[in-house]
Amino acid sequence: MAVPRVCVVTGGNRGIGREIARQLALNGDLVVLTARDLGKAEKAVGELGGGTVEARRLDVADPGSARSFARELADAHGRVDVLVNNAAIHYDTWQRASDADLTVVREALETNLLGAWQVTLALLPLLRASGHARVVNVSSELGSLASMGAGNPAYAVSKAGLNALTRILAAELRGEGILVNAVCPGWVATDMGGPGGRPVAEGARSVLWAVDLPDDGPSGGFFRDGRPVPW
Ligand code: NDP
Repeated sequence: MAVPRVCVVTGGNRGIGREIARQLALNGDLVVLTARDLGKAEKAVGELGGGTVEARRLDVADPGSARSFARELADAHGRVDVLVNNAAIHYDTWQRASDADLTVVREALETNLLGAWQVTLALLPLLRASGHARVVNVSSELGSLASMGAGNPAYAVSKAGLNALTRILAAELRGEGILVNAVCPGWVATDMGGPGGRPVAEGARSVLWAVDLPDDGPSGGFFRDGRPVPW
């Protein structure tokens, strides 16, 4: 039997992150479901009811939390095969860049861009130890410069930054067996997406496509449902 992959999901206590964790566990992977509140992570693990899923605390916006999480994982597993940077905030449909509350913008950047960046940095030794790791940055078409228009400035800029980080990291890590891609889950019915979007299972599958890429798969790309999205 194949050795289970060690898979870390950020913001795994609800929404698309929780569904990604559920599908990975069903697949037989060892899932580290993280949340900024340990109680929420434990509750989500209890509700998933199946597979090997462990709850851990990780506030992606807190450097100390990222460091201690990396130490815990090093002791527990010694490697990370999959990192899904899913946690995000401030889908700021009410804002305009020309009249923005920069506090909201800063918070969005701290979590959606710098949070993903610092978690990746903290886990990089463990991703390297995998030998064939996948980093998936959960992005959004709202971060695509090709289709960017008015509105959502905090969220859109944070996701455009995440897309840029994806390309840079992919280029720097090329040759180390680590594939780094950005994925849009599509419009999904969650607390963030609101009603009317597609089911979480479909959004999660869009992300898992990049988790399951073969060793010779693409790196530094932006995809939805396995198809490239314009930058
Ligand atoms: P939700 O708002 O439903 O869930 C967001 C998750 O992120 C929660 O678990 C939340 O935890 C967590 N989170 C927020 N801040 C932090 C933090 N500092 N540290 C750790 N976890 C944190 O969002 P979705 O599930 O809809 O979105 C998941 C991803 O998909 C996001 O990256 C989003 O931008 C992207 N996306 C979603 C779309 C949609 O239509 N839903 C469309 C395009 C992209 P807590 O419960 O503690 O708040």
